[in-house]
Amino acid sequence: MSASEQLNIQLPSPLQSVGSDTLPWSPTGDIEVLIKRDDLIHPIISGNKWRKLQQVFDQWQKNSQSKILSFGGGYSNHLHALGYACYQTKIPFCAMIRGDYQHRLTPMLQDLKNWGTDIRWLTKIQYARKNDENWLKSNVTDYSDFQVIPEGGSGVMVHSGMMQLISELPQDLDYLLCPVGSGGTLAGIIQALYQLQRKTKVIGIAVLKGQDYLESLVSSLITQKHALTQHHWQIIHQYHFGGYAKHNAELLDFCAAFTSQASIAIEPVYSGKLFFGLQQLMKQNYFEPGSKVCAIHTGGLQGARSLISNQKTDKNV
Ligand SMILES: *Cc1c(COP(=O)(O)O)cnc(C)c1O
Repeated sequence: MSASEQLNIQLPSPLQSVGSDTLPWSPTGDIEVLIKRDDLIHPIISGNKWRKLQQVFDQWQKNSQSKILSFGGGYSNHLHALGYACYQTKIPFCAMIRGDYQHRLTPMLQDLKNWGTDIRWLTKIQYARKNDENWLKSNVTDYSDFQVIPEGGSGVMVHSGMMQLISELPQDLDYLLCPVGSGGTLAGIIQALYQLQRKTKVIGIAVLKGQDYLESLVSSLITQKHALTQHHWQIIHQYHFGGYAKHNAELLDFCAAFTSQASIAIEPVYSGKLFFGLQQLMKQNYFEPGSKVCAIHTGGLQGARSLISNQKTDKNV
């Protein structure tokens, strides 16, 4: 049985057409709006996190490495998805957390604990050394054999999951929108579109303050450099609301209105900013009349559980 079957992953995810009656704003200028419901892939391993991890799990049976090790903040959607997938497939998992939450576990960390994750608390200084293999080896001494998955799950192995995502989308799509955090999703999408010779233009909505930084991050994750220069992509930096997990009343109101009118739950960290950005672009007549536009709902509702109530702003990718 493949890992996808074992985890009961539901692919392809639904592609939902939304009209002016379902959105809290009226699409103008004859624009067709579609939502790719990756939030429905799995109740826990939702959205882009499964797309990014798919290849790791599909290949796991074939290699002999015995542990998975990854990194993130105390609210990380990536660690949550990975922790659950490892728990279900019985792969030992070690989560390196930025900060010490031992005495104030977030709901995400509580879940990891319940799933038997080996949790290590790192200081910010230690965390900054996470890409140093030698440092890791001497500090994780009881693990002789492990596979490191980068923060946010954003590494070159996102490729096959993203190829599958693009192959599930209509060929005549004019624009594809996604939120941008650690950049792996956007990078994977650009590369997959380029490889599948699709003309779809890509728009990333930055969820954190990162003009230029995010562009270079995405570039560094794309192995086929032609894709970068030849495929039409851009990151829009106007809708991060001041930074990662930052929000104001306008964004919260927008999320609430969208959730109730479209009957699609969104949160203010990722999907709220994405759909807010989409609304603004439509208001500005950004898209040519007759365009077919698709936004990817990347999931992420778990991370917002305590975030909204505590007004936490910790890094969550
Ligand atoms: C992690 C995450 C993102 C960001 O994806 P990156 O590949 O890190 O840019 C977007 N949406 C949700 C819901 C996420 O959990």
